[in-house]
Amino acid sequence: MDTIDNILLYTENISKNFQGIKAVNNVNFKINKNEIRALIGPNGAGKTTFVSLLCGRIKASKGKVVFGGKDISDFPVYKRISNGIGYTFQITSIFFNLTVYENVALAIKKDNSNEKINTVSEVLTKVGLLDRINQRSGDLSYGHQRLLELAMGMAQKPKLLILDEPTQGLSDSEIENFKKLIKDISSSTTILLIEHNMDVVMSIADNISVLHFGEIIAEGDKKTIQNDPIVQKAYL
Ligand code: ATP
Repeated sequence: MDTIDNILLYTENISKNFQGIKAVNNVNFKINKNEIRALIGPNGAGKTTFVSLLCGRIKASKGKVVFGGKDISDFPVYKRISNGIGYTFQITSIFFNLTVYENVALAIKKDNSNEKINTVSEVLTKVGLLDRINQRSGDLSYGHQRLLELAMGMAQKPKLLILDEPTQGLSDSEIENFKKLIKDISSSTTILLIEHNMDVVMSIADNISVLHFGEIIAEGDKKTIQNDPIVQKAYL
């Protein structure tokens, strides 16, 4: 259902130019509460730029972002995070010399240390890393580091969690585990994920948006996207 109350975030003509390249071009996008949305498209389509505009890592050339009914276009990253937009990016944001606990604790704003410990334990339990809580993060396997990043994103208790290629570099069994995890997290958080692995997209996404040369060329549920001739030509 697409009522105003249901919409968590929308953009109006959001655009980003890099020295003449229209990386994101007049995108009108919306995502509903409790949705799992996949954002797909060829390399260089503008996916990372687009989600960076949502979380504020990049300033838009034009257009606006409305989140929870509030125009957040001029909000810096930290203010978007405190309003409920969490994200994890391709480039790892872990401090390797810190422990698993310390990395997750850093992602939490709370001053109350009991609450902090509870939240860290809760998210590490969810991602299956609780038994590694005191391990140096740099000593974790790559797959576990990706899970730690997810835990860091979850620890902010976001209303919208943006994940940029979360399954990249994971083994098949890690991907299976990840799919279950995302389904589980999605009961309390809206998820927007950039994903190249079509098996992941088709098994967890409620809806899919296809970006091509900075524009959304198709949007809909899996069947709609799979059968769309324009998408097939551009991407699938
Ligand atoms: P991929 O799937 O490879 O990660 P993408 O869909 O995320 O690609 P973007 O990384 O958003 O695509 O890039 C979109 C376009 O903008 C590309 O042409 C890219 O070269 C360009 N671009 C992205 N960031 C910058 C930047 N900081 N400066 C200049 N051009 C950039």
